[in-house]
Amino acid sequence: MNQTPLGDDADLLLHGGRIHTLDGRGATTDALAVRSGRIVALGADALRMHATEAVDLDGRTAIPGVNDAHLHAAWLGARWPHLFFSATPPAEQPAGALVHTAAERRAALQNAWRLLAELGITSYTEPGIGPGEDAGETGCFGTAMMDAYLALHREKAQTARVTLLRLFGTLDGAAELEDFERGIRTPLPTTDPRWLAVTGVKIFADGIPPMTTSWVSEPYPDGTSGELLPQSADGALHAYRRMIAIALERGEQIAVHATGDRSIEEFLRVLEEHRESVGAAPHYVVHADLATPAQIERMRAVGAGFAVQPLIAEHTRDWAGAQLGPERTAAAWPLGEMLGSGALTTITSDAPIATPDWRIGLDASLALLGRDDAGTRRQLLRRVTIDPARQDGAATWKGSLEIGKVADITVLDEDPAEPGRPFAGIGIARTIVDGRTVFERA
Ligand SMILES: [Zn+2]
Repeated sequence: MNQTPLGDDADLLLHGGRIHTLDGRGATTDALAVRSGRIVALGADALRMHATEAVDLDGRTAIPGVNDAHLHAAWLGARWPHLFFSATPPAEQPAGALVHTAAERRAALQNAWRLLAELGITSYTEPGIGPGEDAGETGCFGTAMMDAYLALHREKAQTARVTLLRLFGTLDGAAELEDFERGIRTPLPTTDPRWLAVTGVKIFADGIPPMTTSWVSEPYPDGTSGELLPQSADGALHAYRRMIAIALERGEQIAVHATGDRSIEEFLRVLEEHRESVGAAPHYVVHADLATPAQIERMRAVGAGFAVQPLIAEHTRDWAGAQLGPERTAAAWPLGEMLGSGALTTITSDAPIATPDWRIGLDASLALLGRDDAGTRRQLLRRVTIDPARQDGAATWKGSLEIGKVADITVLDEDPAEPGRPFAGIGIARTIVDGRTVFERA
């Protein structure tokens, strides 16, 4: 993969600004050269090359292209500009089927990709597309949407790289073990994994704290404890554990929507029983609102991670607090513990639930952590670039600006690592995917 032909020609040269490589040492540089979509030189070596196109950063800052590790692009593109947490009042929220035809499904994806390019997002995980949603209300998650992805993929029409998880139940709802067992055996489509990687499965374990549907060990004030969504003749827990075990046996990546400590605990137990099954694309919990410090440490020990949404925490804190009580609310959304533990942690939007604007998500992360310094900011930037690449099992070839890696780059008006001002105020000037500019601000 690092066998870039030697020579002093480049297709593209970035110079004249600060470049955060986000490599293991956190190095910065002042120039970067690209050939055939790959980074071939940095710093003085890059400046010595003859480039077909030179982009003067003019004092701006470049970072690795942003990777939103949990974003429902088809749904986002079909709903845009209506987000669930937004100024759109409930009565004006889109309802029912959002896409009906192949052309509309295609348009939804292209709409999302345009928006993501404007936001500097070069990769994302589409968490849950499959037969479980073929009769789904929105039309955004079924097999037909998978076909739309495959068609655009084969036409090389993508402007963002996609990691896709298959779904054999309903989104945010029940799933039958039988359907899961049958579905996971259906063959995977053949794709170029650099652009469309189908890495594994999404399993919905439980609901969300504000609805008292998270499966928790300590009951809510109303006496209930939530419950599991997977179903089988042998009960919900059997179905949940079997789904995880089947995916592990098949070597598929597993992303579990789990918010309550009970559902996280059962996921962990199965992972701990199958320690050898953690592969290149690590398994992870999506949301993990009520993960305990001990569970976070066990997740790290077993090589699994978290995909979390600090902005949703901000939006739902008061609402969830009424159900959880002050003590559990104070311990919820343990971002600081996750970052401190060393467990793989990605900061994601879950758009269109919240805005796909990662800058707002990082501001919510600073607020949740209660600190704002350059070290913390660099750590947060890693959570939207290199750590999502690790979650994708793709950190050897994307996620940081290093020689041999793909040239996925986001150019910002100001240095996001400098503390004291919101990320949200930093303009996005240019987005480059695979060495090609897919967005340039007018
Ligand atoms: Zn989601």
